[in-house]
Amino acid sequence: MYNESIIGGEFLIKESNPENIFIPEDFNEEQKMMADACQDFLEKEIIPKTEEVEKCKPGLMSNLLKKSGDLGLLGLSISEEFGGMNMTFNTSMLIADVIGITGSFSTAYGAHTGIATLPLYFYGTDVQKKKYLPGLVSGDIMGAYCLTEPDSGSDANAAKSRAVLSKNKKSYIINGQKMWITNGGFADLLTVFAKIDNDKYLSAFLIEKDFSGITMNEEENKLGIKGSSTRQIFFNNVFVPIENLLGQREEGFKIALNILNIGRIKLGVGVLGGCRAVISSSIQYSNERIQFGVPISSFGAIKNKIAQMVVKTFSCEAITYRAGQEIENKVIEFEKEGLSKNKSELKALELFSVECAICKVYASEILDYVVDEGVQIYGGMGFSEEVPMARAYRDARISRIYEGTSEINRLLILGILLKRSVKNEINLFNESKKVLNELMSVPTFEDYDINNNFSKYYNHIKKIKKGILIIFGNAALHFKNKINEEQEILMNISDMIIELYAFESLVLRTNKIYLNQPNAILLELAQASMYESTKNIYSSGFEASCSYLEGEELNFILSALKRYTNYNPINLKDCRRKIADHFIKKGNYKLFNLL
Ligand SMILES: Cc1cc2nc3c(=O)[nH]c(=O)nc-3n(C[C@H](O)[C@H](O)[C@H](O)COP(=O)(O)OP(=O)(O)OC[C@H]3O[C@@H](n4cnc5c(N)ncnc54)[C@H](O)[C@@H]3O)c2cc1C
Repeated sequence: MYNESIIGGEFLIKESNPENIFIPEDFNEEQKMMADACQDFLEKEIIPKTEEVEKCKPGLMSNLLKKSGDLGLLGLSISEEFGGMNMTFNTSMLIADVIGITGSFSTAYGAHTGIATLPLYFYGTDVQKKKYLPGLVSGDIMGAYCLTEPDSGSDANAAKSRAVLSKNKKSYIINGQKMWITNGGFADLLTVFAKIDNDKYLSAFLIEKDFSGITMNEEENKLGIKGSSTRQIFFNNVFVPIENLLGQREEGFKIALNILNIGRIKLGVGVLGGCRAVISSSIQYSNERIQFGVPISSFGAIKNKIAQMVVKTFSCEAITYRAGQEIENKVIEFEKEGLSKNKSELKALELFSVECAICKVYASEILDYVVDEGVQIYGGMGFSEEVPMARAYRDARISRIYEGTSEINRLLILGILLKRSVKNEINLFNESKKVLNELMSVPTFEDYDINNNFSKYYNHIKKIKKGILIIFGNAALHFKNKINEEQEILMNISDMIIELYAFESLVLRTNKIYLNQPNAILLELAQASMYESTKNIYSSGFEASCSYLEGEELNFILSALKRYTNYNPINLKDCRRKIADHFIKKGNYKLFNLL
């Protein structure tokens, strides 16, 4: 049992051990069988139709979603009374991971099952749920989520759409325009956010597409995920029965934000299928492609790429499932305290909103890295639409934009941590002061257990945490309540935190696998990650400090950063070669068959 009772962001100040975290290797046979069944479905029903999907064949996407509904895939986390499968959080993450390989279908699926279905599931009345949820779960009703407008994207609450009560007080009359609406072309039920009168905050409404006054533009001509429907939708005096208000008046903004927490972690896990597919086909291609008389996989330059793609993807898997289980643990804890399942899930997700944002930023950027190197390994063929690499490259790019851009999520990570520190929910300021005191004292020598292969990594993680706390605490103290004006520095500190979470999760995962399967490649993965993450953490900390400090104060902080990011040099080339050779020999990179 994963017994740690921690709250989001506490990984910065608490030590974790492998027994207390969940790793993908912990999935049981039943969960793996579900993932296999889902994979079979994709191979039979979705992947063969990729070309038709990409050409937006009329009716096809809704038909495929309906087929996935017939298999139960549209209601994985919905309770059984509405036709769902009531799966645990991490099981539904695993299925999102598998489906992630399908690009356009995965976007349509994610929008339907996530942002379109969950607001109703979490905030709907019994009557609303009975009316719409079974249809959304079976696929008889298609859903879309309408938040963004031409003038309000990241600043969602600035939406101009308005709702006013009709004279007979039986309906809200809605006027406005929504933009970039996934599944817009075929959705039957729209969750629409608009302000009632001159309210400060948005309210949410369940609007049936057949209500009079709804029109839409043609499909957007997009860079990628071309097979997913994306429309502008116009609401012109649309009468919406008052019973279709979702949640309370002005609760819409909160609903939108809370649902995005789930969207973010699901997006994080949803890119993994794509990363693995690109790595596997890059390995296969590099084994087959002969240049200068040898397979290109024998070149150090190519091995270096494959190794980095593997290490980053491996750590991405580690963070998403670790965070997923931490959320699940909290859900169980809250349910034991008497909260309903719905409320427990929402509360747990809010508590771990930092981790949700980390998963989103890290995973979407890793996907972009992996597809970019995938194209490079394919050379000229990578630029051709004849092989799937070009589409993977185009499809990947959206992940850094929707569900909150990378910038917004980075700001969110720091914003939440600062707020929690001020409220004393997690005291990063105190911890930072302790590190400052330590800096004033005589340094102690590093002491680690030479019989434990992972001890040096845990020691290093402890030190890095101190380095981050110093940079965080000093910036907070320096700028006080003006820190929000220093976005560049906030981004730097966010990057340090993201890298730490990725590195620590990778070490915990490799250590936990190693306990059962002491394979040397696990140590290489930890080694390579230590190099990469430390380099990035140091460089972000350096950049942040140079952005506002000078003279002695700058020297002091930089020497502290150096002290806490220092480690014995390694032969990175050999380390990455060993990792690459391992996977080149295997011919692929798969979630459950790494060693
Ligand atoms: C294919 C696709 C599908 C989508 N699906 C949906 C959907 O189903 N439903 C829906 O409601 N929306 C959807 N969206 C909209 C999406 O969520 C928004 O595009 C996204 O939130 C960004 O908003 P924006 O495009 O208005 O960019 P803007 O908010 O204008 O941002 C532009 C740039 O400025 C940066 N920026 C903005 N504010 C700040 C700030 N405070 N500090 C620093 N930088 C900032 C951003 O990070 C970005 O780099 C979709 C978008 C696309 C492209």
